[in-house]
Amino acid sequence: MDYFKYKGSELFAEEIPLSVLAEKYGTPLYVYSKKTLLRHIGEVKRVFRSSGALICFAYKANNNSALLKLMNQEGVGADCVSLGELLLARKAGVPKDRIILNGNGKTDEEIKLALKMNIRMINADSAEDLLNISRVAGSMKTKARVSFRVNPEIRVPTHPHIATGLKESKFGLAYDDALKAYRLAASLETIEICGMHMHIGSQITETDPFAEALKKLAVFSKQLAKSGIRLKYINAGGGLGVKYQSEIPETLDKYAAVIKKYALRIAPKIIIEPGRMLIANTAVLLMRVISNKRSGRKNFVVVDGGMNDIMRPSIYGAYHEALPAKVFSEREKKDYDIVGPICESGDVLAKKRRMQNLYAGELLALRGAGAYGYSMSSNYNLRARPAEVLVDGSRTALIREREDIRKLI
Ligand SMILES: *Cc1c(COP(=O)(O)O)cnc(C)c1O
Repeated sequence: MDYFKYKGSELFAEEIPLSVLAEKYGTPLYVYSKKTLLRHIGEVKRVFRSSGALICFAYKANNNSALLKLMNQEGVGADCVSLGELLLARKAGVPKDRIILNGNGKTDEEIKLALKMNIRMINADSAEDLLNISRVAGSMKTKARVSFRVNPEIRVPTHPHIATGLKESKFGLAYDDALKAYRLAASLETIEICGMHMHIGSQITETDPFAEALKKLAVFSKQLAKSGIRLKYINAGGGLGVKYQSEIPETLDKYAAVIKKYALRIAPKIIIEPGRMLIANTAVLLMRVISNKRSGRKNFVVVDGGMNDIMRPSIYGAYHEALPAKVFSEREKKDYDIVGPICESGDVLAKKRRMQNLYAGELLALRGAGAYGYSMSSNYNLRARPAEVLVDGSRTALIREREDIRKLI
């Protein structure tokens, strides 16, 4: 549920018409609803409250520091995958015991910073990664708290680019190698084993894959226990899907119930790393129409936002609902492809959408743009990245300035 709604013929973000925001801040523009974000955080906290789970937001989904500060105030921690994200977590004021470092290619510099910040734990991706962490910890005369990411090797019904728990995935320890890696860790002076981690993929709308994966890891954890290795934490990753189109994601209550049921068989303390489910539907990408053209038998709306501003449609074929900021019910409707100005045929933001004729100067909003939107944006075609605003009732705050292309060059 979100707070982007039509009032009469105008699309609003909470109490403000999107047209007012476009006028004030220009386009393309990421528009966030604070009320929506707080609602999503509140719901995730509510369903996990009884288990006392640690909730670490996946910073890669959105790295706006104003939003991250807000999350921190709500008690949400940080799942980081780079030096930049660790620094951002520190800047957002996240307490060290709510920060985790993930990733399958950590550099010494990143490991060093994680150890210096004394974060809750580092998730090792392989025996080699473990040895790197151990070497760096040794050189700093400290001990590293480590979990392993273990690949449960299951099929997950989602886009292949965002399925990460397959046997052939690049992430984590192969299930059959995991015991050896834990034994190695147990033998190292510089390592304190603290848990197990999994992340099976993204935009998963059912709970069965989570249950299946955790069941497999529970079998493995029994083997560990036989070797005298006990775990404090089980990190179930992120991955719960959201509604972009006609998906009906499993409810948060069901998701939490499944995670609790199976995770607690592995370790007493649960961690989750939600990304998309917290932030996707808190934002729209607002764009202005540059032209409306017919080419051959197709109708195109050309907007001022492109695949450099929002990459998901181009790289995943992702669906984002496209909504006119102002509805003219008497206008003729056509099937449109909504395209950006980038010099790539893949720069299509929405395909074959039945919508009212749109003319130059009018506004269009792409929904569900809060996750992997701005954070995946680029300067391709040497374009400035958009601005971001946060709407709170009838107030607005510019939370990221539009880049100035003249400064960039
Ligand atoms: C991307 C990622 C997440 C978040 O995934 P969502 O699908 O956005 O919830 C969590 N954990 C890890 C390790 C990730 O790579």
